[in-house]
Amino acid sequence: MGKINRDNVVNIVVQLLKQAETTLPGDVLSALKSARKRESNPLARMQLDMIHKNADFAREKGIPMCQDTGVPIFFIEIGRDAKIDFDLEGAIRDGVVRATEEIPLRPNAVHPITRQNSGNIGLGLPEVNYDFVDGTDINIAVAVKGAGSENMSALKMFLPSEVDDVKRFIVETVKNAGGKPCPPIIVGVGIGGTFDRAARLAKKAALRGLDTAPDKLERELVDAINSLGIGPMGLGGDTTALKVNIEYAHCHVASLPVAVNIQCWADRRASAVLEG
Ligand code: SF4
Repeated sequence: MGKINRDNVVNIVVQLLKQAETTLPGDVLSALKSARKRESNPLARMQLDMIHKNADFAREKGIPMCQDTGVPIFFIEIGRDAKIDFDLEGAIRDGVVRATEEIPLRPNAVHPITRQNSGNIGLGLPEVNYDFVDGTDINIAVAVKGAGSENMSALKMFLPSEVDDVKRFIVETVKNAGGKPCPPIIVGVGIGGTFDRAARLAKKAALRGLDTAPDKLERELVDAINSLGIGPMGLGGDTTALKVNIEYAHCHVASLPVAVNIQCWADRRASAVLEG
């Protein structure tokens, strides 16, 4: 998708945000379709049809699929031999500003105390995460996260002796969220690490997509969550979660952090590679 230079980064950020905001990824669409086939509750089937119609309409018209266009979170993989002779983060910010005007996006960023609006950039926004990988390319991935699902996140520092309570905590978090995060949801869980690492793992898990094979705990959790009966948009039904994704990290012998990050049905993400 082009070479590594400042203009290309700005353009790619605009294109990726447009794609993420308007086009629901294929894995989510097919999971919603399968859920529709399995769903026994007529009202839930109707909600799933509405979600599908909404997604089709947004894609066809090139407009955001939800009025809460979220805040962008970038995940940048930089090849160890990539040559970057410009301000990469500045280019990403410029792309966000242009996307806000051109798509357009709702200006969602405010100062936490004064609530003064700053568009979609500000202190610490957009959030940019970096990883180094082999090669000369840069992979730019973006996800946009709305407040309805983000506000339902939770983190708890368990004692190691409380390991059996972890499952209950995750299911309770989803139960307390009810219809607020616009189900069907994807539940991201971070287990282990430190206080902050658990939260980052949960976010990574929530945005991982639906294609990975579930482990035993992920399967048990998705069954337990779907048996809550919250259903699409919280109006009842068999489909509350499309998937549970867990990311693990080793932790201190005396601690057991667990974080839950919920992603709504509008699982908006896109990525592209710039060649070195
Ligand atoms: S939770 Fe998701 S679908 Fe619901 S209003 Fe927020 S961004 Fe939109």
